Amino acid sequence: MALGEFQTSTPEDALQAVAAAREALEGWANTPAPARAQVLFRALEIMGRRSDELARTITEEEGKPLPDAMGEVRRAMNIIEYAAGEGRRMFGYTTPSELPSTVAYTVRRPLGVVAIITPWNFPIAIPAWKMAPALICGNALVFKPASITPLSAVKLTEVFEEAGLPPGVLNLITGPGGSVGNALVQSPDVNAISFTGSTEIGTGIYAEGAQHLKKVQCEMGGKNAVILLEDADLDKALGGIVQGAFGSTGQRCTATSRVIVEEGVYDTFMEQLVQRTSQLKVGDGMAADTDVSPLSSQSQLDTVLNYIGIGAEEGAHLAFGGRAVTGGEFDEGYYVEPTIFTDVTTDMRIAQEEIFGPVLTVFKAKDLDDAVEISNSVKFGLSSSVYTRDLPRAYRYINTVDAGMVHVNAPTLGGEVHLPFGGLKSSGVGQREQGVEAFDFFSEVITVYIDYADTSRTQARFI
Ligand code: NDP
Repeated sequence: MALGEFQTSTPEDALQAVAAAREALEGWANTPAPARAQVLFRALEIMGRRSDELARTITEEEGKPLPDAMGEVRRAMNIIEYAAGEGRRMFGYTTPSELPSTVAYTVRRPLGVVAIITPWNFPIAIPAWKMAPALICGNALVFKPASITPLSAVKLTEVFEEAGLPPGVLNLITGPGGSVGNALVQSPDVNAISFTGSTEIGTGIYAEGAQHLKKVQCEMGGKNAVILLEDADLDKALGGIVQGAFGSTGQRCTATSRVIVEEGVYDTFMEQLVQRTSQLKVGDGMAADTDVSPLSSQSQLDTVLNYIGIGAEEGAHLAFGGRAVTGGEFDEGYYVEPTIFTDVTTDMRIAQEEIFGPVLTVFKAKDLDDAVEISNSVKFGLSSSVYTRDLPRAYRYINTVDAGMVHVNAPTLGGEVHLPFGGLKSSGVGQREQGVEAFDFFSEVITVYIDYADTSRTQARFI
């Protein structure tokens, strides 16, 4: 079903959007932060009023089940609320000067024009968690959403427009990343870039941004692992693993892609994992009883099926699923069975590369140290989890696992907006998103010294 028609913009259009942002910047930057916050509070109220419509748009456009889409809208509202509250803080600090009659303090200033480049898998929440902190800090924005989810982007932009954001402060530009996105990255009038997407594209953007000395943050791929230790609450672990691997059809950056199971519990776990997975219902995201909805595009389906083929060729054992679901209503979407591979080894591609679909790889480990070694054997380091009741082992895990977000007895998924979000290694570079770190990224800190002595100085400064 076609949801609309959207402009294929050109690089010239992108530069016009940058020029519009540049023109609006001064007025917005000079608006006091508490007044900027009022716009965000109105956006929060409008989003609340339109939340059903926004969630339905996400499900129709991206495909995730409606309850997940509702959760996404809620997440966007949380970050808007959090950033709006910051309007009355926006702290710098004062500190004693080493000189007499001198005041020393810091103050925050906007970066300028910021490009926001986002993926399709959270078409409202990810842009919102960049926009809200960027706006409260006084920046003007050019927003380039993923090409396959433009309608969600239009509706999100409408929310801010309706909230009274001055014209030019937020500019939406639809069109291909390779041309339109690239024009933003290269433009000397763009001061900073906040990107979420694949590691491949993010690496290029980071390098290009550095050439122009832009401030850049990139949130990228993951290959998140759960470690299941023998002493864990197995029922709780199974719930978290199934939700983490197959919820939102595995198309979350924090999805569970690997499970590393301590030997003693392996056979019992596998039996119950396959049994629980077999109960999941594949279907339309709008249907109330759907657990696993379609993938977002033909190219996602092709990628996932290709990886399933690679897993079989590499010698992994297909313990469940593995096929596209077709026929009747399923021909209208990109459905694939939730899939489990066992006998996976760390040298396999399915063990190392991000699949971004409902495919879970299972490993057997001798003990915690072996499990952490397997967990850390990938280039990514976004999210991770351990299930155990053993506090010393939990802490050993927390201190040694390569991940920006660590969970104990909870799925690898998600996070809260007032805590930093992001990863290590190839999963993230630049400052963390969300939490207080978001305001650090979207502002420059200026250091001020005021000499109020009414006589000239005898003491010299040396730097
Ligand atoms: P892509 O990297 O393909 O695209 C992301 C965005 O970048 C899109 O808007 C895309 O536009 C744009 N883009 C593509 N090429 C360029 C370019 N040369 N210059 C500038 N912009 C460009 O990622 P996907 O959209 O496929 O998203 C999935 C990825 O996102 C996964 O790897 C996932 O792990 C990651 N992700 C990471 C998260 C995190 O916080 N760490 C959270 C969510 C997802 P277009 O759509 O037009 O190609």
